Amino acid sequence: MNVNQKKHIITDLTEIVGKSHIITTHWKMYPFSKGWRYGEGDAIAVVKPGKLIEIWKLLELCIKHDLIIIMQAANTGLTGGSTPFGHNYDRQVLIINTLRINDIHIINNGRQIVGLAGSTLYNLENKLGPLKREPHSVIGSTSIGASIIGGVCNNSGGSLVKRGPAFTELALYARINKNGKLELINELGIYLGSKPEEILNNLENKNYKDSDIVNTKKLASDNMYSSIVKGIDSERPSRFNSDPRLLNEVSGNAGKNAVFAVRLDTYPAAKKNRVFYLGTNNVDVFWKLRRDVLSKFKTLPTLGDYLHRDCYDATKKYSKDTFVVIERLGTNFLPTLFELKRKVDIIASKLSFLPNKLSDRIMQFLSYCWPNHLPKKMDEFRDLYEHHWIIQMSDDGIEEADKFFQDFFKINDGSYFKCNPNESKKAMLQRFVAASSIGRYHALNESKLGEMLSLDIALPRNEKDWFEKLPKDMDDLFEMKLYYGHLFCHVLHQNYILKKGVDGEKIKEKLLKTYEKRGVEFPAEHNVGHEYKAKPVLTNLYKKLDPTNSFNPGIGGTSKLKNWK
Ligand SMILES: Cc1cc2nc3c(=O)[nH]c(=O)nc-3n(C[C@H](O)[C@H](O)[C@H](O)COP(=O)(O)OP(=O)(O)OC[C@H]3O[C@@H](n4cnc5c(N)ncnc54)[C@H](O)[C@@H]3O)c2cc1C
Repeated sequence: MNVNQKKHIITDLTEIVGKSHIITTHWKMYPFSKGWRYGEGDAIAVVKPGKLIEIWKLLELCIKHDLIIIMQAANTGLTGGSTPFGHNYDRQVLIINTLRINDIHIINNGRQIVGLAGSTLYNLENKLGPLKREPHSVIGSTSIGASIIGGVCNNSGGSLVKRGPAFTELALYARINKNGKLELINELGIYLGSKPEEILNNLENKNYKDSDIVNTKKLASDNMYSSIVKGIDSERPSRFNSDPRLLNEVSGNAGKNAVFAVRLDTYPAAKKNRVFYLGTNNVDVFWKLRRDVLSKFKTLPTLGDYLHRDCYDATKKYSKDTFVVIERLGTNFLPTLFELKRKVDIIASKLSFLPNKLSDRIMQFLSYCWPNHLPKKMDEFRDLYEHHWIIQMSDDGIEEADKFFQDFFKINDGSYFKCNPNESKKAMLQRFVAASSIGRYHALNESKLGEMLSLDIALPRNEKDWFEKLPKDMDDLFEMKLYYGHLFCHVLHQNYILKKGVDGEKIKEKLLKTYEKRGVEFPAEHNVGHEYKAKPVLTNLYKKLDPTNSFNPGIGGTSKLKNWK
């Protein structure tokens, strides 16, 4: 593409979104063209539309200029699926970031919501609070601004034991058909008109009545999960990204079309909640406890997240600044912080005497000046126990769990304590910011370390050996291993840093092969991005949804070329 063609495209894009909502300089694009933890690539521009109709016009323009489209929300995806990857695309890439279009409509007396393209889980929680309802999904990145639709497109899982991955059959989306024509598909179950412009404007302006909302048998959440998760003797994992049960045009689509809105169920809020903090030095104790709770309890836990001691330590040290910022300034401050961080890095890159990753170094330094942010009891458990489990129970389940844990730890290794409100908040936040710690450690020590590697795995529900045991010769290749996850769902996140010079791809292949033999599925909830190879069930879905391969090409190791050549 020559300079004039490029200029022409930028002018066309600017006409749609306005001058202040288009980014074309390389450095300014960085927060949008680089993944949270993995992958980065080139784009002709990042555009931030402010209206649904602007997304539609941008898509039309992409077809006219033969551009690749990457739909993006909060860009918290961990496997590189929300950004370009590398430089070997056969067309220019446009990133459409939807975060400005963030309205949430409450419908059906609060029992359901309609979330527009960039609406966030955090705002959904706040909006549902006064109605005594809760969202379909609570994930680690709720607290850092992850979107509702990014979650649905990734089938994101998260912490909720009863509700399963983000899933819906009700959505409004656009696709490019096999003749290269743009089509708007309204499967929201809300009558909004017939022409694209009319439909999009009516939705955006909430120009529809209760009588326009159709209630059919179509699902607005995964209604099977609570019974699936209880199936502790099954060889099949409870949830994973290539599960055909949860795949459709929007759910698990990995960005292979453009979603304008989704309709989702909400849930009645519990009257009471209580967090229990458990510790043991014996992995079999947690194995037994998981089986007992899932098979015997009348009330399923609301949430249950595991953390290994090393992960506790790393999170305490390297995610402390994120923890403190969220706790003190709130999630809404994070975009401002990331903007600041980016500016610091731009300046540092221009001045050769300043070190790489300057913003990380500053944040880390500042975090040392802040007093210990974790409760004393949690630190005591850290010293006593290698394995930690944060379990939240609600209503009748609180007494049931308390009585059960009392008896259980009389005869099994370990113990527990009931968190007060402050400890609950901190335990949960500590777990939610765990994903960031490895990246910070790596950024600070890059020159001395090898590659970062992460595995997001779903173990068979009957798997006893849930905690990874590596043979010594393999174990010696790692500088750091951090384990955390959703233990009731048997989903584990295993983050590694290799020693310098060790071939990450080879190690990853070896590890995944051993897991495959044991019936483990991967990825469990982070979606394939550019980190995992998509299984045929996903590849076939992507080809069906996007016959010209215009949206997010290359995802899951598929072809990046037009028309899947
Ligand atoms: C600290 C941290 C904790 C995390 N905890 C969890 C966790 O507990 N559980 C979990 O499952 N994940 C977790 N994640 C991963 C990530 O946050 C989730 O995948 C999240 O749902 C992504 O939301 P997002 O708004 O950032 O979407 P993005 O990353 O922007 O996009 C995700 C995917 O959706 C597509 N997409 C986005 N918007 C649209 C649209 N309008 N139309 C079509 N496609 C679209 C993108 O192309 C991409 O493929 C965590 C990440 C971090 C950094």
